[in-house]
Amino acid sequence: MSTDERLHQIAQDVSTCTACKLHHSRKNAVPGEGPVHADLMFIGEGPGFHENEQGRPFVGAAGKFLEELLGTIDLQREDVFIGNVVKCRPPSNRDPLPEEIEACSPYLKRQIEAIDPKVIITLGRFSMARYFPNAKISQIHGQAKEIDGRLIVPMYHPAAALHQPSLRSVVKEDFAMLPRMIDSGASASTPVEPENTDPEQLSLF
Ligand code: URA
Ligand code: SF4
Repeated sequence: MSTDERLHQIAQDVSTCTACKLHHSRKNAVPGEGPVHADLMFIGEGPGFHENEQGRPFVGAAGKFLEELLGTIDLQREDVFIGNVVKCRPPSNRDPLPEEIEACSPYLKRQIEAIDPKVIITLGRFSMARYFPNAKISQIHGQAKEIDGRLIVPMYHPAAALHQPSLRSVVKEDFAMLPRMIDSGASASTPVEPENTDPEQLSLF
């Protein structure tokens, strides 16, 4: 199967999945979208209201901010793959439960294997926990770590930055490092460190 066919198969499997109870309330599953060989893959939390309506990731307010952030590094949403930890909307946008994340995780794993991105950016604590189970986002955001041959970069969720305006410049600074990370790719012998970290922001979350 080509990568394109693999991604379509995953989307098909997701749309009929009943592996956790989130399938009961979904209108549209949101498998994620982007180019088959994207260098950058963003992993959010799960679909919200608008995503559930449209079957597409990050199409609400958080998505708008994500697009703005991509713009600051001369990228458009079509240039990157955008997915989520869970593919069906948690009722009332509650946090996804551990068993739901677990049930959905094979789909994300298959997507990562198919796309094979150079850099994965986790947005918020649920996707961060996939790679850094006990970390605090305030302490590790923006710090790339090589895991399984690719760079993983934890970042604040764009929605957190919308609710907490002081985080916006933090997220922008973290984004500003991404072009260098793509260039260094998984072959980076030294992880790319943040240029500066504002100590005042570290105690926020
Ligand atoms: N927030 C997320 O985490 N994912 C989406 O797809 C939309 C909002
Ligand atoms: Fe299946 Fe994931 Fe949807 Fe649960 S959230 S029903 S595991 S696709």
